[in-house]
Amino acid sequence: MASDRPVSDSRSELLAAIALEVQSCTKCDLARSRTKAVPGTGSPDARVCFVGEGPGREEDLSGFPFVGQAGRLLDKMLAAEGIRRSDCYICNIVKCRPPNNRVPTPAEISECSLYLYAQLAVLEPAVVCLLGNTALRFFFGERYSIGQVRGTVLLKDEQRFLPTYHPAAALRNPQYVAIIQQDIHRLATLSREEPGSTPDAPTRPFG
Ligand code: URA
Ligand code: SF4
Repeated sequence: MASDRPVSDSRSELLAAIALEVQSCTKCDLARSRTKAVPGTGSPDARVCFVGEGPGREEDLSGFPFVGQAGRLLDKMLAAEGIRRSDCYICNIVKCRPPNNRVPTPAEISECSLYLYAQLAVLEPAVVCLLGNTALRFFFGERYSIGQVRGTVLLKDEQRFLPTYHPAAALRNPQYVAIIQQDIHRLATLSREEPGSTPDAPTRPFG
C-alpha cells in the first residue's frame, strides 16, 4: 500500500530530479540522435500513469510526451471519460526518440528502465495504463499481447496495470478507437477505486 509514498511536494521534487537526470542522460545510443529527451510530464498526485513506447518526432522536438497526433487522439478519448490529462502522469518506456520511430531495442529499454521504475516508485499510481505492446511486454514479458489482454486488470508487485492499444495504432486502424475508449472508461472507474482490489485473473503468459 501507499505507506512509503512521499508527500505531494516532495513527489514533485523527486519527479523533477528524475527529469533532470533524463535530460542529460547518455546511457544508450539514443542520446546521440535525439533532439530533446522526453522524461514525462503530469501531476505528482496522479492516480493514473500512462506509459507509451517512446517519443516520436514532435515529442523529440518539444521535450514533452504525446504532443503529436496520437497524443491529441488520446486527449480526446480522456476528455470523453471526464479525465483531465493534467491530473494524470504520462511518460514512455524509453525517454529518447528511436530513429524513424523504430521499436526500442532490449538494450535501450534496459538502460532506460531505471527512470521509469523511479517515476512509478514516486507516483505509486492507482493504475498504470500500458499503451501498446512495447509497454505491456516490458512489464509482463514477450508472450503477452495487447490483443489478448487489453481491457483487463493485470497485477504485478502490487501494482495494477490496464493495457490497451496504443493510440497510434488507432490512427492506422480506426476500429481501435472504440476499443480504447472502452478501456479508458474502465480506467476512469479503476482510478476512483481504492488500491488493492483484485485483478481479473492471475497474471500469467498466454499461448
Ligand atoms: N508515441 C509514444 O509511444 N509516445 C509518445 O510520447 C508519442 C507517441
Ligand atoms: Fe538515457 Fe533513456 Fe535516453 Fe537512453 S533513452 S539516453 S537510457 S534517457
